[in-house]
Amino acid sequence: MLHPPRPLLALAAALLALVTVATASPAGALPSERTAGCRGLVALTFDDGPARATTRRLVRVLRRADVPATFFMVGERVAADPATARAVERAGFLTANHSWSHQDMRTQTYRAVRRSLRATDRAMRRAGLHPTNLMRPPYGALARPARRAIRDTGYLPVMWNADSLDWRSGDARQIARRILRELRPGENIVLQHDGVNRSPISVAAVGEVVRVARRRGYCFTALDERGRPGYPTPTLTAVAQDGAEGGAAVVTLTLDKPAGRDTAVTVDAVSGTAGVGADLPAMHARVVVPAGRLRTKVRIPVSADALTEAPEHFTLRLRSPEGVLLGQESVQVGVVDAAGTARADLPGPPFLPVTARRT
Ligand SMILES: [Zn+2]
Repeated sequence: MLHPPRPLLALAAALLALVTVATASPAGALPSERTAGCRGLVALTFDDGPARATTRRLVRVLRRADVPATFFMVGERVAADPATARAVERAGFLTANHSWSHQDMRTQTYRAVRRSLRATDRAMRRAGLHPTNLMRPPYGALARPARRAIRDTGYLPVMWNADSLDWRSGDARQIARRILRELRPGENIVLQHDGVNRSPISVAAVGEVVRVARRRGYCFTALDERGRPGYPTPTLTAVAQDGAEGGAAVVTLTLDKPAGRDTAVTVDAVSGTAGVGADLPAMHARVVVPAGRLRTKVRIPVSADALTEAPEHFTLRLRSPEGVLLGQESVQVGVVDAAGTARADLPGPPFLPVTARRT
């Protein structure tokens, strides 16, 4: 059994959490443009999963309420049920490391902590996840060797300042009230569990927490790279696959990590030797990479003409990023003569030439 922790541990964890969050969160600007006008930010976090039925139900509840969240997963549970772990990320939520087997890290050596974090990371990646750089020590308990091990393994420990105590007592209503009572203007990180015996009751509390907190002016966020309420900022890059006349060019937009929400970029086609309005349609579009996906493709139809020509190109310009950084401002897209496609019948790659040129 992973929980409950001994009461003293829980108390220590709660105190530690308050100290850590308080020092990590000086008052100041809210981290996202979407949070302007919010009375405070609330980041929901769920520990100890994945646990098949409960985690999947929770994902549905959060999606329905359109609320982001971060899941701190136990490595051996990810290894036992990779499909449920994957479903969490595919549904658009962030994932983070909660150790391999939920041992108290104060009793572990530097090397054991590193092994536990790495094994969990391996299990998560093997399950198809792209975990954040965040971790949460079991019971929120840390000693100096564990702190060093966490840092040296590249992780940032994240505690909480609103404890649901869902593992201990209460029906859904009481758990919701407990959480709501803890919320303060500023930054809130709520601790709940999707992998303990009482988790189904805790999941049933989420709806009321969201409803009431929103009514009071709070906004829900994920956790950013520093472990504070907000969102990570992935970098977007674009790779073009040349289009054959009469076919389509394809530009693949890729994020380097999950954003925990939808991100978007505006794309415009700009004439090169291939002309916008002549060889390809005028194009101005907002392209969304939905939460839970790292990649999206833009297809640009390329018209055929009767002439045999040298390869041509145009540029797809990327602008107005929302929730992402641009790794590049444009991508050059090649257009090959339709006659050139005949060569694709030769042995070799199916498209000729398939070159990705970045500017
Ligand atoms: Zn835990």
